[in-house]
Amino acid sequence: MGNIAIYPGTFDPITNGHTDIVARASRVFDHIIVAVAASTAKNTAFSTDERVDIAQRILAEHKNVEVRRFEGLLAHFVRQCGAKAVLRGLRAVSDFEYEFQLAGMNKRLVPEADTVFMPTSEHYSYISSSLIREIASLGGDVSEFVHPLVNDALVERLGKHHKK
Ligand code: ADP
Repeated sequence: MGNIAIYPGTFDPITNGHTDIVARASRVFDHIIVAVAASTAKNTAFSTDERVDIAQRILAEHKNVEVRRFEGLLAHFVRQCGAKAVLRGLRAVSDFEYEFQLAGMNKRLVPEADTVFMPTSEHYSYISSSLIREIASLGGDVSEFVHPLVNDALVERLGKHHKK
């Protein structure tokens, strides 16, 4: 399968910032596994199956991209997949501190893999899943930040109790 990169995250929901990283990384690596975290301390708006299903449908056009759920430790999943890279997106300097710590710990846990950071495209730098959820739950329009499929799911899940 060549050079495999794991792109882990919660993807609650997947945004245009995420898909941009995947599209660009799919030209750098032979194979990308988008790893959707099942066991997360976060209270998610969408179930693991929903997050996987939406990401799968949106990313289907990339033939070297696969979406899978993973439980437990990322390091175990990385090793199990035989990946040599963990892909993470960086939006701002504020992302860096946590990401740098995570990269160090993962290197310790799975020495054969390295974290590769990809900078966000400028126009996606302010997009985060949490902000998207918040705007949608308050009845705001997030259609320019997410795929239409995600927009529909957000309106259905978070926006329907909101009165305009
Ligand atoms: P996590 O819970 O692991 O932070 P997320 O789903 O929020 O998972 O993000 C997954 C990855 O995508 C992280 O590396 C994050 O920095 C990156 N990411 C999120 N939003 C963007 C964006 N707008 N541009 C680039 N990278 C992003």
